[in-house]
Amino acid sequence: MEKDCIFCNIVAGKTETEFLYQDDMLVVFRDINPHAPVHLLIVPKKHIRSINDLTEADQPILSEMLMVAKDMAAEHGIAQSGYRLFINVERGGGQVIFHLHLHLIGGFR
Ligand code: 5GP
Ligand code: ZN
Repeated sequence: MEKDCIFCNIVAGKTETEFLYQDDMLVVFRDINPHAPVHLLIVPKKHIRSINDLTEADQPILSEMLMVAKDMAAEHGIAQSGYRLFINVERGGGQVIFHLHLHLIGGFR
């Protein structure tokens, strides 16, 4: 855990952020500034700075992120209408929070 990392603090339960799902590897919560009717963030509990910092040992976390994304899409009723999963990487890729997270957006008409 990184003391000054917003997402580490959220993961540690130090904020009011509601978890829509959590397991031993990750948590899911709503984006504070949603870009779609459904905009969730799938966030590993482990502080991984960006995709560039992944190691082989992180592979189970990555697969869990995708499996949970699929389940959350179904739970929020957007599995069939469709959704987008994306990860911003480093500043040039639009990353603002340097704690790995997967965006799940959908529910557009
Ligand atoms: P990035 O651009 O790093 O991929 O996305 C960071 C996302 O985190 C943004 O969409 C932003 O709205 C969201 N975010 C930033 N701070 C907070 C926060 O304190 N709580 C929640 N729930 N979302 C946040
Ligand atoms: Zn962190």
